[in-house]
Amino acid sequence: MQILLTFDVEIWCAHWDRIEHQFPAAFDRYVNGGSAAGEFALPKTLEILGRHHLHGIFFVECLFAARFGIDYLRRIVELIQGAGHEVQLHLHTEWTDEIVPSPVPAIPGKRQHLRQYSLEDQTRLIALGIELQQAAGAARPIAFRAGNMAANSDTFRALHVNGIRIDSSIDATVRDSASDIRQQADVYRPSYIDNVASYPIGVFRDGWGRERHAQVGACAVEELFQAIKSADRLGWRQFVLLSHNFEMLQRRGHHPDRFVVRRFERLALFLERNATRYPCVRVSELSAPRSIGTGSLPRASHAAVWRRTAEQALRTAFYSMATVTITVLEAVSMPETVSLFPALSVV
Ligand SMILES: [Zn+2]
Repeated sequence: MQILLTFDVEIWCAHWDRIEHQFPAAFDRYVNGGSAAGEFALPKTLEILGRHHLHGIFFVECLFAARFGIDYLRRIVELIQGAGHEVQLHLHTEWTDEIVPSPVPAIPGKRQHLRQYSLEDQTRLIALGIELQQAAGAARPIAFRAGNMAANSDTFRALHVNGIRIDSSIDATVRDSASDIRQQADVYRPSYIDNVASYPIGVFRDGWGRERHAQVGACAVEELFQAIKSADRLGWRQFVLLSHNFEMLQRRGHHPDRFVVRRFERLALFLERNATRYPCVRVSELSAPRSIGTGSLPRASHAAVWRRTAEQALRTAFYSMATVTITVLEAVSMPETVSLFPALSVV
């Protein structure tokens, strides 16, 4: 069974009305994520992949470059391609109304989802994304993922018009994903939609019977192991894993989230040890979607879901306590204690 080890790469500012001021620091956090402990955004991700001889597919958001310049995007492309991985196309249309002149006819305000745009506008935005990525030194993208997974039927038509024949936007656990084609399309397994090969984000049933997507930052690593093995037993030919450039960082600041770092290290080791059975493939190596029926979803165990719950509780408690401790220490003017934080490792 082929594994698509995918990363969505994107940059966010805290306030849209202050992006001019905030973007340079946001770029540094989301791309480098540097702290005294190391650079835990893209550099650490690439280092772990390299150490375990794994191939990563990076869906890089590029509309931001129409606002802040191609040089920023080029730095991301160089980092990823320089480490031997591939860059594919990701669009977050939250950026559309920040671009001057507007790439689409005037819109009344911020539109979060690609599906909120007409076929014509989606076609324009995807064409702009392709142009920006190529200008930044990437090869012409052959695969696409919509921001927030919010593709609709027009997205597949727009991809076809732009010559992109592979999509990995659909996420059955996200309400805005493929909302207008859920009755006709298989939102769980690879299939063709308007002559575009669709490889949805991997979804499994957790120990409580709930659908969960296979995201590194949101699952216990045991759940991911079990979901992969279960999908293989069910005859799936591909399984898509999801992560982001910022998942190894704590929610605020540049410090690493040691729980997620540990999880990603364990997943990478698992994939390396099982590279023959579950190879992490390039987009160009994907075998074509083939119907395997509409049977049950991959499953993970009760033990794994309890593990996730316990880990998340521990993580919340640990970082809440660490934040309070640091705040108190800073408040009593002991600046040297700040450097203690990266050493509070639970790996
Ligand atoms: Zn995204």
